[in-house]
Amino acid sequence: MNNDQIWQAVLGEIEIGMSRANFITWFKDTYISSLENGQAVIGVPSEFAKRWLENKFYKIIKGSLEKTVGEKISEVICRVELRKNQPVKPVAVNTETTAEKETAAPKPVEAPSLNRFGLNSRYLFENFIVGKANELAHAACRAVINNPGRVYNPLFIYGGVGLGKTHLLQAIGNELSKTTNKILYTTSESFTNNYVQAIRSGQGKEFKNAYRNVDLLLVDDVQFMGGKDGTQEEFFHTFNELHQNNKQIVMTSDRPPKSIPAIETRLTSRFESGMVVDVGKPDIETKIAILEKKAYEKNYALDREILLYVANNIQNNIRELEGALNKIIAYHEFNNTTPSVKSVKDILSDLTIDARSKSLSPKDIVETVARFYNINVKELTGDSRKKELVTPRQIAIFLIREELSTSYPTIGQELGGRDHTTAMHAYNKISLEKESNERLNQELNSIKQLFYSPPN
Ligand code: ADP
Ligand code: MG
Repeated sequence: MNNDQIWQAVLGEIEIGMSRANFITWFKDTYISSLENGQAVIGVPSEFAKRWLENKFYKIIKGSLEKTVGEKISEVICRVELRKNQPVKPVAVNTETTAEKETAAPKPVEAPSLNRFGLNSRYLFENFIVGKANELAHAACRAVINNPGRVYNPLFIYGGVGLGKTHLLQAIGNELSKTTNKILYTTSESFTNNYVQAIRSGQGKEFKNAYRNVDLLLVDDVQFMGGKDGTQEEFFHTFNELHQNNKQIVMTSDRPPKSIPAIETRLTSRFESGMVVDVGKPDIETKIAILEKKAYEKNYALDREILLYVANNIQNNIRELEGALNKIIAYHEFNNTTPSVKSVKDILSDLTIDARSKSLSPKDIVETVARFYNINVKELTGDSRKKELVTPRQIAIFLIREELSTSYPTIGQELGGRDHTTAMHAYNKISLEKESNERLNQELNSIKQLFYSPPN
């Protein structure tokens, strides 16, 4: 295995643990510059990336390198350098003959190519697999493309992490970029940051013009606007201006509009005024179809039995499914072996459900619930009887009990030293309410999905 192959395997593993956007931000254009005597030098494109990789990802990189090469790595150094002998990518892939393909060196990890709108050109409708859990969302997106600004405006897509929201959102952008130049893709976080900066530097007017003068506005992860009043105000006006002029707006969020904490009602009602669709977890057939398609794209064949094993055991989302596949391919290419259910089982052992729930602690659940409701852990576990705190507190109790079967006294302890009867009461209350409250159900599901995706 050469250094590129090793790095590809390492990246395959690292990618599983984080959002695509994060992964691209930190790992794009990185490679192994040298790997000798237990010392790995990773070439990175910027000082910024170097700092992050060394501070935040050192352990993961080291661990994953060790696993991949099967040797102890004593040191990982990140160095800002440009890659020498960067392989020139063939322009037209189709001209490759089969023979060439077989002998060609393995491709370096494809850095996603971002087009001029900051859209990832990999996110297309052509490679989006439609199943029960996303067919409505998919159909709504297609309708938007056929008639932008006219049918579903805004289109609001929500659902858990890694289920294809960004893919759909960007697919709309990629498709409409064939007919218009005025497309803006943003996350609610960068909308906020840009807005704050614009105001600081006295460029509020330019900011307004930039966002209001488009045919298509795509806002990813709009839930992060919760609690940011100035941003909400600005976005409200941007929204209205575009909407009045029949300009298409598409948004994604990890939860339905009404469940976004600390968001103004006038915005929620705008968000709901067009079409709201959800994407859910894929069923087994869809997962298999996705695996087949992705394996095919990578020119790799996997037995049905293996596909079934992976689909059955990767429960949470499609990003993980992709990560698992990358890992399987990298491992077997490296060892030059054919995948079997047994080898795949071993490779995925740290990804499958059992192993994962073991590592989830009551504290993780408390933190996740707090994060979801945009409150801090102190408030969540504190004494206040405010409704905005009491419900999340009860939800945290319920989830700890349900996910970890923790005893009531221990749950009480975890939640700021409460009595076990309080924990029991909270659990019963949420269990009961869950039966009839659809919104509560959705929130519980969204939170559960967060358990397995660390904060980015
Ligand atoms: P989200 O924005 O909901 O967190 P993403 O859109 O980033 O999720 O999807 C995670 C990964 O899974 C991406 O690489 C995406 O291409 C892939 N993916 C998601 N849904 C599908 C699908 N239906 N078909 C093919 N790939 C998908
Ligand atoms: Mg996303």
